[in-house]
Amino acid sequence: MAYPLSDRIKSLPVSQTLAMAAKARELRAEGKDIIGLSLGEPDFNTPDFIKDAAIEAINQNYNSYSPVDGYVELKEAICTKFKRDNNLDYKPNQIVVSTGAKQSIANVAQVLLNKGDEVLLPAPYWVSYSAIAILSEATFVEIPSTIDTNFKITPAQLEAAITPKTKMVFFNSPNNPSGSIFSEAEYRALAKVLEKHPQIYILSDEIYEHINYDCKPFSFAQIENMYDRTITVNGLAKAFAMTGWRIGYLGAPEWIAKACTKMQGQVTSGTNCIAQRAAITAVLAPVEKIQFMVDEFKTRRDIIIGLLREIDGFKINVPDGAFYVFPDVSAFFGKTIDGVTIENAGDFSLFILEKANVATVSGDAFGAPDCIRMSYAASELQIREAIKRIKEALS
Ligand code: GLU
Repeated sequence: MAYPLSDRIKSLPVSQTLAMAAKARELRAEGKDIIGLSLGEPDFNTPDFIKDAAIEAINQNYNSYSPVDGYVELKEAICTKFKRDNNLDYKPNQIVVSTGAKQSIANVAQVLLNKGDEVLLPAPYWVSYSAIAILSEATFVEIPSTIDTNFKITPAQLEAAITPKTKMVFFNSPNNPSGSIFSEAEYRALAKVLEKHPQIYILSDEIYEHINYDCKPFSFAQIENMYDRTITVNGLAKAFAMTGWRIGYLGAPEWIAKACTKMQGQVTSGTNCIAQRAAITAVLAPVEKIQFMVDEFKTRRDIIIGLLREIDGFKINVPDGAFYVFPDVSAFFGKTIDGVTIENAGDFSLFILEKANVATVSGDAFGAPDCIRMSYAASELQIREAIKRIKEALS
């Protein structure tokens, strides 16, 4: 039976990261020993000093609605963080706290985009960017890149993708899924192009900011002339192991922040009050307090890269940050292994799931159809076992 659902929901793709995680859970419930490398979720517990702050907030009876845009103490703490880590000057009236960075991004899209506007997505890009653009009735335009350029677009590519309809561009560094980090010089070169097109707004998603290994990320809004056109999005999920707490935030020109608050006021209201109180402690904590997780991710990155390099057909680069590897597996396309013909990255990801019991995400969800994404936010033991199984399944 065809249910009378809206065209909006019918046109919306399912989130492939969440779908793969759900599939892995389902197979586990059936008794299969699935190793999940699909979801970008740290396997650490939230640090005790943050948990203690939440418990204290409960005991202090934080149970009422918070202001829609977040507690003023949290917004002040976020301003302090932006100055400390990013040399960005934001005032509390430029900050909006949301239920995860995903909602921050969705708010921005809803308040800036009109039907027919074009959103530029340098590929590979996080799966929900394109879906969020679709929900805003905008059109998304991919700017492709490959592993050979370390998954980075060039200023010439950006220039060529711009039309009079272009309203926004989404940047994400460190990048999900590639782990690439744009250097200050690379960002400045892209900004030079955008200077010529003042109608374009920039969403800079910096959620993986603290998870970097070889070079520090640079905030796009630091570039002169870009601050007034840039929305800086961040959150606590990744670096603080707080995925389920759902705390994201943005810093933006005041008129954009105000519009996001209006939107959020009609959709979800203020974010969970206990999580917000704990977030004050997290945001103000010295970065050294979470460094042990970043160090561990780096160790795991080196392990998974080393192991994948031993498998013929995997083309690998070394990601600078986040906790994903994004190998190009196109060498397997057109091959038949163990009776299964692999035509594309989706087939490859499914093959690995079925023959090796390892869950990954196909690259086409990220606008990169030659690749698959593997999250190494899993234990070293699981990583070693997963790659061993994949190697066996492919031989
Ligand atoms: N951002 C994470 C990922 O890419 C969590 C899942 C999601 O929201 O997409 O795996």
